[in-house]
Amino acid sequence: MAISVFDIFKIGVGPSSSHTFGPMVAASRFLGELEEAGLGDAVGGVEVELYGSMALTGKGHYTDLASMLGLEGADPETLDSAGIPARRERIERERTLHLGGRRMVPFDPDKHIHWRGDKTYPKHPNGIAFAATDGAGQVLHRSLYFSIGGGFIVGDSDSIHPTAAIGDNSKPFPYTTGAELAALCAREGKTIAQIVFENELVWRTEKAVRDRLLEIAAVMEKSIEVGLQGEGEVPGGLGVKRIAKDIMSQVKEGTRGGHLFELSDHINAYALAVMELNASLGQVVTAPTMGSAGIVPAVLKAYKQYAPGASDDGVCDFLLAAGGCSIPVKINASFSGAEVGCQGEVGAASLMAATGLTQALGGSVTQVLNAGAMALEHNLGLTCDPVKGLVVVPCINRNPLAANKAVNAVRLTMLRGDEPARPSFDEVIKALYLTGKDMSDKYKETSQGGLAVVWVDC
Ligand code: SF4
Repeated sequence: MAISVFDIFKIGVGPSSSHTFGPMVAASRFLGELEEAGLGDAVGGVEVELYGSMALTGKGHYTDLASMLGLEGADPETLDSAGIPARRERIERERTLHLGGRRMVPFDPDKHIHWRGDKTYPKHPNGIAFAATDGAGQVLHRSLYFSIGGGFIVGDSDSIHPTAAIGDNSKPFPYTTGAELAALCAREGKTIAQIVFENELVWRTEKAVRDRLLEIAAVMEKSIEVGLQGEGEVPGGLGVKRIAKDIMSQVKEGTRGGHLFELSDHINAYALAVMELNASLGQVVTAPTMGSAGIVPAVLKAYKQYAPGASDDGVCDFLLAAGGCSIPVKINASFSGAEVGCQGEVGAASLMAATGLTQALGGSVTQVLNAGAMALEHNLGLTCDPVKGLVVVPCINRNPLAANKAVNAVRLTMLRGDEPARPSFDEVIKALYLTGKDMSDKYKETSQGGLAVVWVDC
């Protein structure tokens, strides 16, 4: 299966692409399997099994809720986030699930969701299984899936090896590394955005690609606008206040420091707005994940606001380059915090924002890759230690910081000229993968180390 940029940029409800979006996708796949097997009417009950990181941080990431909504047939893109609390309340009160949106089956979350943080499958730390029973407890059908980051799901029998699982050979310009992408650009005399655009034509017409890119950009923009209206505390009980709106008001009034902080203030407010919305189960775009969903929108909005001559064409080029340059990360490393730590989420997002902005500003192929390499290089080693398993601390603040880092990486690389940088784009991605493999499990979305263990409730 080849990867489209629209597999990277997906619209959904937060807070986590692997632990919220992924389970909904897996549940949908499970429902399809039941239909295919002709079991739709025979099912009398369902069970959910959460393994490894999926269980250890699943409560804070709302994995139980996402699994239930997925089994009811919810589509992450069209799910009405405002209606989620009422749906949860109804499921818990009536102890039933509207399976596939078609028929009610008994379901008690306390009894039918099994939290198996003690067991991790060797294939991937994010295991989730669904079992359909006949009502008397007899299992009719069971499937195990792995949520491998960024909302991507593989089945138990699918290969987990990135290159084998997602070879790119059906595209006119297949590539798995930055070097291959640069060579294609040189051979064809095209920019990275043009190569990625032509690859997208495998799935969509030119107009449909452009329309979807602009739709993705519009949802990103809306997530900033909605996030900037938010007040009160972020859900989860950590006492973390939503501050994006207040920061934006201060920026508009003119803060101390004046122009010195103008760009970074705006980027901070935009990234915080998206992340506060994400943590509140609002609608965002995976870029490449939901834990890192504030970085690309913040830098894209800064491009539209500040870059001379910014245009819709520039927005499309931004997203094409950002999405296209993330594919080598997906193939050769991982977007999964449970697999490689936060460097695979926030680090990859910072790479995407840097490559996208450089492309939109008319940077060369070398400069696009250099900017991405620099942004990712200086996120290497970033651990994932979310307090109480929530996508709040450190996740929210980490986004504005990485967004500003991406912009600075663009500035530094574009001022340096056009020489290929060392370490190269591909070397940094390889370092990400190796660092992730060496990282203790405590720092890979288990909430068993770092900030998650030093945090003291007041
Ligand atoms: S620390 Fe990073 S990888 Fe972990 S949940 Fe937060 S954003 Fe995701």
